Amino acid sequence: MATATRDYYDVLGVERNASEADIKKAYWDLARKYHPDVNPDDPSAESKFKEINEAYQVLSDEDKRARYDRFGPENGAGAGGGWSPDFGGFDPFGSIFDAFFGDSPFSRSARSGPARGHDLKQSVEITLEEAVAGVAKTVRVDRMGMCKSCGGEGTRPGTSRTTCPECGGRGQVQSVSSTPFGMFTRVTTCPRCNGEGRIIESPCEECRGAGHVRETVRLEVEVPAGVDTGARIRVRGEGDAGTFGGPPGDLWVYITVLPHSRFERDGNDLRIEVPISFAQAALGDELTIQAIDGVDVKVKVPAGAQSGDEYRVRGRGVPSLRGFGKGDMIVRVTVVTPTRLSARERELFQELAELQPGGARPSGGRKKKRQGLFGRARQV
Ligand SMILES: [Zn+2]
Ligand SMILES: [Zn+2]
Repeated sequence: MATATRDYYDVLGVERNASEADIKKAYWDLARKYHPDVNPDDPSAESKFKEINEAYQVLSDEDKRARYDRFGPENGAGAGGGWSPDFGGFDPFGSIFDAFFGDSPFSRSARSGPARGHDLKQSVEITLEEAVAGVAKTVRVDRMGMCKSCGGEGTRPGTSRTTCPECGGRGQVQSVSSTPFGMFTRVTTCPRCNGEGRIIESPCEECRGAGHVRETVRLEVEVPAGVDTGARIRVRGEGDAGTFGGPPGDLWVYITVLPHSRFERDGNDLRIEVPISFAQAALGDELTIQAIDGVDVKVKVPAGAQSGDEYRVRGRGVPSLRGFGKGDMIVRVTVVTPTRLSARERELFQELAELQPGGARPSGGRKKKRQGLFGRARQV
């Protein structure tokens, strides 16, 4: 990974043939030295600390160390996916750090600093027509907005923050504790200013010093043509406001495409089922079907069409989200058997049946594959 650029042995300051015990000792010494809680004023300590942890994670594991020795960090022998900035659950020394420092080194989120606002989610339902054409949707968002009265400062207009008397502006307070490993200075976030170093003496009346207020806004979101259910659209900077000057989060708009009464989506193709009569099936016909974009499209059904036959109309489907091309409209015909016949119709059908090859005779075996139009009915 990106951080695995330095040699792990160099990071821990040990020889390549160092024993497990040497490695562990070097790690403990360095971890104590560079622990971020011990070095609140040195921002480089934290990255150093992470580097040390990463090196230790590999070199303390026999398998990982062997792979690292053979292939180096770039070949999957590094900390691999196991390491992440939040340590991804890897914390075999959590309990030791507890003894060292009183709390886990990885639970330092209480320290204040500019923090990005939360991302927000909102779902939007659109019709298939809108998915095909693209649409601008108004989305209602309930969020933490920046307080306009104080500009996010939290202070009453005309006043400003003052240095925290508790910590003298450092944001942290120290306490000394003794552990089996000796005396340690424990540094914790100042409870008075929450680590910010400054406090608000006269808070803004609008937000009571928080710097942000609940707000409901309506945003217009461009939904691109071609989206399908499950698509997310990111609207940058429209999530919760950040704190202490941090940037706002993003708004994620989740799309659901509502089912359509006539069309069924199949990727970028649109399927439609069209009933046709015996006569249309037998003689062929030209159907007029309204495509999803509202345009009437002619679809030729050849003579002898069968139930289930499909006809593809190019380019009448959903446009590709990536910008090029469109899906097709697939017309599937179903031959509908009439259930109620007028006297005249019955007469004509009977007459027709007489004409069907093999239709009048009970020995219908000659044409197995393609029986006469009424062959099946006759066999009953
Ligand atoms: Zn305010
Ligand atoms: Zn303070």
